[in-house]
Amino acid sequence: MLRIAYRPIALLLCTVALVGLIAVRPLSTYAEAARAGRALPRASAPAALRVWPASHPSRAQLRRAETAGFPAPARAAPVVKQVPARIEGAGPRMRGELVAQTERLDLYVGKSTFSPNQIKALSAKFERVLRAAEDQFGTTLKHRVSIGFYRTPPKKGVRGMAYTSEARVELYYRPGEDTGRAVTIAMHELGHHLEAQRYGEAAQRRADTILHEGLATWIASIRWLDQCDASSWRERARQLRGAGIPLRLTTAERSGADNAYELWASFVDYLTRQYGWKKFDALYASGRGRAPGSASYQKVLGKSLDELADEWRAWVTQ
Ligand SMILES: [Zn+2]
Repeated sequence: MLRIAYRPIALLLCTVALVGLIAVRPLSTYAEAARAGRALPRASAPAALRVWPASHPSRAQLRRAETAGFPAPARAAPVVKQVPARIEGAGPRMRGELVAQTERLDLYVGKSTFSPNQIKALSAKFERVLRAAEDQFGTTLKHRVSIGFYRTPPKKGVRGMAYTSEARVELYYRPGEDTGRAVTIAMHELGHHLEAQRYGEAAQRRADTILHEGLATWIASIRWLDQCDASSWRERARQLRGAGIPLRLTTAERSGADNAYELWASFVDYLTRQYGWKKFDALYASGRGRAPGSASYQKVLGKSLDELADEWRAWVTQ
């Protein structure tokens, strides 16, 4: 067993072990359009139309517009995002001391792990990474979740577990360890809660590991890629390949849990760009168990997992 463990009980839906987490830019307009299932923006408008590109005009463009007598293009307005409302009440009671409550999260600290003051000081950050996860995935948490920090994992090397049916997350760290990495793992585990929110508990429980762990890692892109010093999942897969990690999906865990999760996140990124979110959601929901490859790739996307893996490798390496 690697540093991942699955137990055949409904509660234990995710484990993650990060050792080698090692940067991220916001998704491009292309990625956002692809995720929303919209047509990709054109690289340039037809020459005869003489319109301005939809993106922010540069200062040089504005100067040229003034000199040429064109009406100056308006600068695009920033998007005002709505902040999710506080969810009243409390999350489930966990072991240890309740050290902080944010708008949607309750934070508990057990013995011999991070200190209560450390977690209290980080509480707003956990809420922010939840919001970033929701923005990335387009799904909002509908119930409070409790996050508890403990010293001893259920299996060696495990760093986090999402108990989605119980609205809980457990994280396993020793005193003095890197709190930044713990925040990234918390974001991944909250990603599993968002998966359960979007697809339903039953579908998540029988989701193909490639999609289940790949998606939770993809949801945590903003932090995870930061720690890999990669600007995209495509780049991350290239980095891994350059380091000698084979671009394989069903046997990815042979290269270690972190590498497997990152290869799967890259595959998820490719599928959502190439086939769109409607198809991806149907694919996720078609899983017949945790075994890698259990989803109905042929039926939903019209291609076998092997064929899709070939496409993904060509995308990564082209
Ligand atoms: Zn996970």
